Amino acid sequence: MHNPDEKTQPPSPPTLRIKAIQSLLIEKGLLDPAAVDEIIDIFEHRLGPKNGAAVIAKAWTDPAFHQHLLEDATSAIHSMGFTGLEGAHLYVAENTPEVHNLVVCTLCSCYPWPVLGLPPTWFKAPQYRSRAVIDPRSVLEEFGVHVPDDKEIRVWDSNAEIRYIVMPERPAGSEGMSEAELAQLITRDSMIGTALLAPVTGESA
Ligand code: FE
Repeated sequence: MHNPDEKTQPPSPPTLRIKAIQSLLIEKGLLDPAAVDEIIDIFEHRLGPKNGAAVIAKAWTDPAFHQHLLEDATSAIHSMGFTGLEGAHLYVAENTPEVHNLVVCTLCSCYPWPVLGLPPTWFKAPQYRSRAVIDPRSVLEEFGVHVPDDKEIRVWDSNAEIRYIVMPERPAGSEGMSEAELAQLITRDSMIGTALLAPVTGESA
């Protein structure tokens, strides 16, 4: 929507407040403007579920990396260059025909930033945080994920020390695909455990 006043109106109060605080910190020599640019660049370009998808696709195609990832996700993920904020200790929970994994942070919103980016709003909602542990099967149904009664659901409660990522099951029909092609299939929600990956059909393979 075009706002004819946008050139003449001051920015919103929160924006103004942030600009004022940043100017003051820089003026007092407490903040390096390059550091602010660096942090913004990290959030805009370097964090996100594309990183997690690259990790999972590598694990599907490289048995040694797969084993490394399950045994020591932190070091395996760091070896791909995905490090930093909120990613010091990571654990990968692998979905199998017998087990479906689901990640939550019951306390707040702990999330593996380097591989998944910032958490979606629903991940931070009190309803998700409480119900995911009490009744995960119903919560998953609401996300459109039906887990049969004879399949176990494991719920992983994130915290400040350790962050979890789900390794979704590799979809049927993806057998001939390359690591890069596989990475395109892997969604953010499948790595939280609130989605499954669709089988690959002839046309899209
Ligand atoms: Fe948290």
